[in-house]
Amino acid sequence: MFNFHTHTKFCDGASEPEKYVESALQKNFKALGFSGHAPVPFPNHFALTPENIVDYCQEIRNLQMKYSHQIDLFLGVEADFITGQSYPFDQFRKDHHLDYIIGSVHLVCRQGCDSLWFIDGSRQASYDEGLQTLFDGNIQPAVRRYFEQVNEMMETEHFEILGHFDKIIMHNQNRYFTTDESWYRKLLLETLDLARQKKLIVEINTRGLYKKRYWDFYPETQWLPFLKDMKIPVIISTDAHDPSELDLFVLEAKKALLNAGICEQMILTKTGFCSVPLSLND
Ligand SMILES: [Zn+2]
Ligand SMILES: [Zn+2]
Repeated sequence: MFNFHTHTKFCDGASEPEKYVESALQKNFKALGFSGHAPVPFPNHFALTPENIVDYCQEIRNLQMKYSHQIDLFLGVEADFITGQSYPFDQFRKDHHLDYIIGSVHLVCRQGCDSLWFIDGSRQASYDEGLQTLFDGNIQPAVRRYFEQVNEMMETEHFEILGHFDKIIMHNQNRYFTTDESWYRKLLLETLDLARQKKLIVEINTRGLYKKRYWDFYPETQWLPFLKDMKIPVIISTDAHDPSELDLFVLEAKKALLNAGICEQMILTKTGFCSVPLSLND
């Protein structure tokens, strides 16, 4: 068992990093990665700051040494991409000697608009407000802009894992569109094909299920056969914000992948990412 998408007290998670290590050891994890939200260039309540990212990195490196005989620990960030605004991912990697980066879009921008559309978080109302403010309530251009921004991230930044790439569905809840509509399928599959071209690892994220914010993984189960056909490597993560969330719905994700004929998953080792057989028992 392993998980490379976790958030601690240094950003918007619940506990000190060591609590996650202790929980991982109890659950017999072989590896654990930390992926604090990388700093963004405006005041916020979710990301590391340019100041505390140094302490975060130091803390993880200390734990790495302390627990080196028990578990492999890795230092990463989940970097936000916002067109024309976010910091270059390479800068984080270079400044902090990161082991890996998850690239994600949580905030959608639109040319000519000052505010951002926050598509994540616990409040459905902020999704609805952003859709109204930035896109006059028109869902198709809004979702198109989201996927465009994900695509721009893949075209312009260097990172290993594409995080929850269809999270735009979370607060939609089938209200403005359903994911079987042809325009949506086209956008999603174009993004997936770009991930294939860029040789990215696509994350299967279980957080919506255990937070009861969505009834499926990100990406949804219906897209797994396309991942298989495109031979896109996958990684299962829970996006844990609490030590108790490290393994939630991982077994269900494994079953869904095996069901779709995907028999391997990616893990991070001391020598880099590699593919291992997907087993229900480890
Ligand atoms: Zn995220
Ligand atoms: Zn996350």
